[in-house]
Amino acid sequence: MRLNDDAKAMLRDAGVSQAEWARASFPGAGRWFGDACGCIDDRCIGYHHDEADSCGCLPSLLEDYRGGVGMFAPVNAQITG
Ligand SMILES: [Zn+2]
Ligand SMILES: [Zn+2]
Repeated sequence: MRLNDDAKAMLRDAGVSQAEWARASFPGAGRWFGDACGCIDDRCIGYHHDEADSCGCLPSLLEDYRGGVGMFAPVNAQITG
């Protein structure tokens, strides 16, 4: 699975590299297991939103990541802790 152009643009706007996003979402996995839209759910497109629509999950996931909350809090806590 590769990230689509929308996801790449959103990550770029957030200042997060694709490699960093894969690491943050799937620690230790070494690759991206989410959907092409950037959501960590690999069935996001077609379930959370249509393929033609931009992903609503990625912006809020990125916000959580940058804020160190939600699913990203324990990971960040370990790194900084
Ligand atoms: Zn999603
Ligand atoms: Zn999505």
